[in-house]
Amino acid sequence: MSDCCRVPAPQVADVERCPVSRTTGKPVELLTVKALLTETALGRLSKVAHRFCPDPSCDVVYFDAERATYGRRELRVPVWQKEAFGDRTVCYCFGVSEESIRAEIQTTGRSGATQCVRAHIAAGRCACEVRNPRGACCLGDVAAAVKRVELELHGSAATLR
Ligand SMILES: [Zn+2]
Repeated sequence: MSDCCRVPAPQVADVERCPVSRTTGKPVELLTVKALLTETALGRLSKVAHRFCPDPSCDVVYFDAERATYGRRELRVPVWQKEAFGDRTVCYCFGVSEESIRAEIQTTGRSGATQCVRAHIAAGRCACEVRNPRGACCLGDVAAAVKRVELELHGSAATLR
């Protein structure tokens, strides 16, 4: 391909990339970082912009604009994006995990986890900004986890309905 028709790669500012995996991080509130770091890790926090590294194979959970990083073991909870599928916690506010979803489907034939979490959110009980390491609403993650567990149990989500 000649140079004239090459589309330039989108430029992502260096501060937006994880210093380890080079993945583009998602902005996360300082409040979230403060709430989830261990006491020791919190002791080196800088009051600058932080981002979440979503790469499952990268140990870095948070990095900041000064390239400081915080790994999985520097958080108070396991980070589901960084753990293997099986019994990960998906909704940190109400304790929904792949294991609880699986148990519910095996007992009742379906999971009401998504509806349950949605009802809690509607009632203003959601605390994702201080409990979910990603600092954002987990509803989409819960819906995806239900589908994935259904797929694991039945081979296809469609056969369940
Ligand atoms: Zn990373």
